[in-house]
Amino acid sequence: MRPRPGALAGGEHPRRPVVPHTPKAAGDFAALLRDEKLARAFLLDLAWPAGSPFCPRCGHSKVYALSGERLRCADCKYTFHPFSGRWINNGALSAAEWLGLVALFVDECSVHQMKERLGLSYNTVYKALTAIRFAIVAHAIDARQLLGEATGLDSYLKGNRLTGGPRDMRMDTIPVYGILRRDAMVFIDLVPGFQAETLFHFHMNFHLKLIRTGNLVYTDRYKEYDALLFCGNDSLPYEIIRRYDEPPHIDASGDEFWPFALERIRRFRGISCQRFPLYLKELEFRFNNRERPIAEMLAAYLCALVPQLD
Ligand SMILES: [Zn+2]
Repeated sequence: MRPRPGALAGGEHPRRPVVPHTPKAAGDFAALLRDEKLARAFLLDLAWPAGSPFCPRCGHSKVYALSGERLRCADCKYTFHPFSGRWINNGALSAAEWLGLVALFVDECSVHQMKERLGLSYNTVYKALTAIRFAIVAHAIDARQLLGEATGLDSYLKGNRLTGGPRDMRMDTIPVYGILRRDAMVFIDLVPGFQAETLFHFHMNFHLKLIRTGNLVYTDRYKEYDALLFCGNDSLPYEIIRRYDEPPHIDASGDEFWPFALERIRRFRGISCQRFPLYLKELEFRFNNRERPIAEMLAAYLCALVPQLD
């Protein structure tokens, strides 16, 4: 049975990574970057793993081809393009450019390097990277919660398009995340009901250790979490944070994930509190898949339908 369009992955298998369908045409990823036709066939295969199109709105598999590349659903009459309603529909890139961007993203190139190599504008690259990061979040086990109101990521989405903008965030709305290590995996959770304000309160009144580096604030171990953290902004009372002689648990633990994360958070430079969850889930994804080739996974994520969150 075909999954409901826009269904979120994972639900009943908590804490298990989502391994997407691998298309028949995968072959040599690098060869796809040089051939638009091959690249497009590869992406279509990811969008329609069963080999034939289906309606992105109702899931019906009887569709008619119209002029151009348009298709129409026989059931709900929705007219769509092959990539309508999918993450990859955000951004004016050709199929080969998308795959080129994915390859550079895998290699952790800077936006500047990507724009040079692909011959695209900064804005085009930046927007397409945002779509990649949203696609990663949408495939996390806790996607529904992360794409909702509590993180503020919902403000970027209008229906299935990334056309919105960030919402103002203050001490009482900046969300808090928790880092949880299980064997070789890391899980970065949204901590429901916690905001930056909660951590300042715990710091002042219950001596929870807070460490600040730039706009990144993290804590000592808290319940099952190795640390809680948030990305702040200039409106926060950083001056009330006390200094400590002893490092917090996560700095002292010698854990492999934390230096991996800190190095990249520094490299991301100028992360806003609004976009912070996108970067956190990227780190989670990269770390948990550090032994796997991720280019094809990312291409599959991009070709997935944007989940319906209503
Ligand atoms: Zn339909």
